[in-house]
Amino acid sequence: MSTWTNWSGLETSRPTREATPADTDAVVAEVRRALDSGGTVKMVGTGHSFTAISAPQGTLLRPTALTGIISVDHEAQTVTARAGTPLKVLNAELEALGLSLHNMGDIAEQTLAGAISTGTHGTGGTAAGLSAQVVGLELVTGTGELLRATPTENADVLDVARVGLGALGILTTITFRVEPLFVLEAVEEPFGWAEALAAYDELAARADHVDMYWFPHTDRVQIKQNFRRGTDLSARRPLSRLQLALDDRFLQNTVFGAATATLNRVPAAIPGFNRLGARLLSHRTYADVAHRVFVAERDVVFREMEYAVPRAAGLDVLRECRRALDASGLRISFPVELRNAPADDVPLSTASGRDSFYLAFHTHRAAEHRDYFALMEPILRAHDGRPHWGKVHTRTAADLAPVYPRFADFLALRDRLDPQRVFANDYLRRVLGE
Ligand SMILES: Cc1cc2nc3c(=O)[nH]c(=O)nc-3n(C[C@H](O)[C@H](O)[C@H](O)COP(=O)(O)OP(=O)(O)OC[C@H]3O[C@@H](n4cnc5c(N)ncnc54)[C@H](O)[C@@H]3O)c2cc1C
Repeated sequence: MSTWTNWSGLETSRPTREATPADTDAVVAEVRRALDSGGTVKMVGTGHSFTAISAPQGTLLRPTALTGIISVDHEAQTVTARAGTPLKVLNAELEALGLSLHNMGDIAEQTLAGAISTGTHGTGGTAAGLSAQVVGLELVTGTGELLRATPTENADVLDVARVGLGALGILTTITFRVEPLFVLEAVEEPFGWAEALAAYDELAARADHVDMYWFPHTDRVQIKQNFRRGTDLSARRPLSRLQLALDDRFLQNTVFGAATATLNRVPAAIPGFNRLGARLLSHRTYADVAHRVFVAERDVVFREMEYAVPRAAGLDVLRECRRALDASGLRISFPVELRNAPADDVPLSTASGRDSFYLAFHTHRAAEHRDYFALMEPILRAHDGRPHWGKVHTRTAADLAPVYPRFADFLALRDRLDPQRVFANDYLRRVLGE
């Protein structure tokens, strides 16, 4: 049996069996087979979680035959899609239907089920993240039953399973809110550290989405503001292929990628290089259908830890993280990404019940990430931080329970839907308990 490895290369596992179910019946059969043999089964996405959340330790189920949109309800503005649909396929199919997601993270490689299962988020937006847009789902439970959950049928399951960590069942279809395809305009510009922090709240109130990158060891900050420009597609002003190739693919991935790989071996050069890199990222404006503006290509493999803290505390937490990094002697060559999200009502969403500010710390895959993440994590924890379920962290069930008021509801539903722990793996045992 081949070894499973996640995108970052940080996690591997040796499944005992592998299958690619073509329909719901085949998923049910795989769960029953695992139950009968006393084993475990896990549907993976595209392995874009940095944690071992999707590491299969028994049967590995691949999602590649469970893709595509099944139906559209134009009146309700909802779409039902198969759970394994990659977001980039979903975006293309939605665009062909004149529809769009409200918001997105910064890549579209993940599957729909994988993205919602860890609470994948973007920045800003007037509506909460993708998991909070889910209004229906079908999943195969740990007793091998197919269960439909909507606001009127098994509503308690729908409520909790919108961020299910793969612990409650294998999702086969997901129904979620969409909106008419719209144009998004991006304005990217450099700021100084003090100027950026002073302006942040105003920018976040004025723009529809604000993504901020701070270059460690410098006073340089790059801010991307996205503005909704309506549904008239003639407002599109996309970057030319050449600009895209030069700015995004080449500069951000190739030059930074090569430089960060080299600089990790010459850490003293990092502050100077970060200043140079920040300067190369210039001012630019472009507009396109929303998903093309939200999403960027990421060719450089990195490691990431991301925490959500209460929105009001966010900038002070960032200042505290900077002070700790400056005093540490560590040299970090990847920008820190800062985002925000409105509160939602999903029990295990990192934005559950509170407006949130996200701080994401990255290192190149050739660099040591542990010292850096270990320096930042206690600061984030001290501010009631909640780690992204798909990004590196060291938290356990005992210390996660206090930061999620409805943690016990999740555990109770897990006991009901997966009494034999057929979906368990080491990661779930750590964050949820046995
Ligand atoms: C380059 C990069 C950029 C990223 N950008 C962002 C970002 O902007 N915002 C953000 O929030 N996160 C981001 N992430 C994290 C990523 O969105 C999440 O980790 C996401 O869960 C990955 O989806 P996946 O399809 O790869 O799922 P996997 O990582 O393979 O699996 C995640 C979980 O979903 C479960 N799962 C998958 N399919 C099913 C199913 N059918 N039924 C039940 N459970 C299932 C798995 O078992 C596992 O528990 C990024 C990650 C990378 C590597």
